[in-house]
Amino acid sequence: THFGFETVSESLKESRVGAVFSSVASSYDTMNDLMSLGIHRLWKDHFVRSLNPGTNPLTSSTSAPAQGWNILDIAGGTGDIAFRMLDHASNIHNDYMTRVTVADINPDMLAEGRKRALGTSYAKGDRLKFVEANAEKLDMIPSNSVDLYTVAFGIRNFTNKDTALREAFRVLKPGGVFACLEFSKVNNGLFNEVYKRWSFGAIPLIGQLVAGDRASYQYLVESIEKFPSQEEFRDMIKDAGFVVPGKGWEDLTGGIAAIHKGVKP
Ligand code: SAM
Repeated sequence: THFGFETVSESLKESRVGAVFSSVASSYDTMNDLMSLGIHRLWKDHFVRSLNPGTNPLTSSTSAPAQGWNILDIAGGTGDIAFRMLDHASNIHNDYMTRVTVADINPDMLAEGRKRALGTSYAKGDRLKFVEANAEKLDMIPSNSVDLYTVAFGIRNFTNKDTALREAFRVLKPGGVFACLEFSKVNNGLFNEVYKRWSFGAIPLIGQLVAGDRASYQYLVESIEKFPSQEEFRDMIKDAGFVVPGKGWEDLTGGIAAIHKGVKP
């Protein structure tokens, strides 16, 4: 690959992934919009709606006081998922207790997230927290403490995905949900041709022209290519101990992205 990832050590790979995200942090939103033609926003909206975070204090039973959900958004970057989760809980369920911890390995991405939070109602209070953490080693998060674990466009960058899945399993409460939104495999041959041309041709070029950084965007495209298929990833989730509802995933835009879910029994 461009970075010769197969031959470098794991810690070196981690530092190179770090360099990629430090480089893209400030142009992250613009680049996502350009590369996905704005569709990543629709995928993220759908992801959050499908999880329906929050407890409605008016409809929840008195024996289960509405304490809100404890959500952990791993690789949460600039807070895209976290803000949507909090907005959904507040606006749809009148739940002002649900809280999100955004965890990310990269301090520059977290800094962008903190900056964005300043412009929202979540800047004050304790509903939104940012922590620097590696998804593979979440020592600061107690076992059986999380209601919902989300990871959007993050897991394909992890050095050891199985270790991260086992950490997700550990921190979730029994009955808690693991939910992942990630690039996946396009299931139509012709559409795949068009998609491959776009991703290998246009995306590195847009990276070069808009962010002045072709190599980082080349890496992003290659990491998508290497990520397991829908079925393989579903099996990895099962192997970590999760029960997978239905077939285990939902394709978005013909499989360009997919949502995988698992429940901790
Ligand atoms: N979730 C956000 C979104 O959907 O817009 C950000 C996704 S961004 C493409 C990927 C993020 O994964 C980056 O912020 C990067 O720093 C983070 N990341 C990469 N490896 C990680 C790891 N091992 N642990 C935690 N975060 C990691």
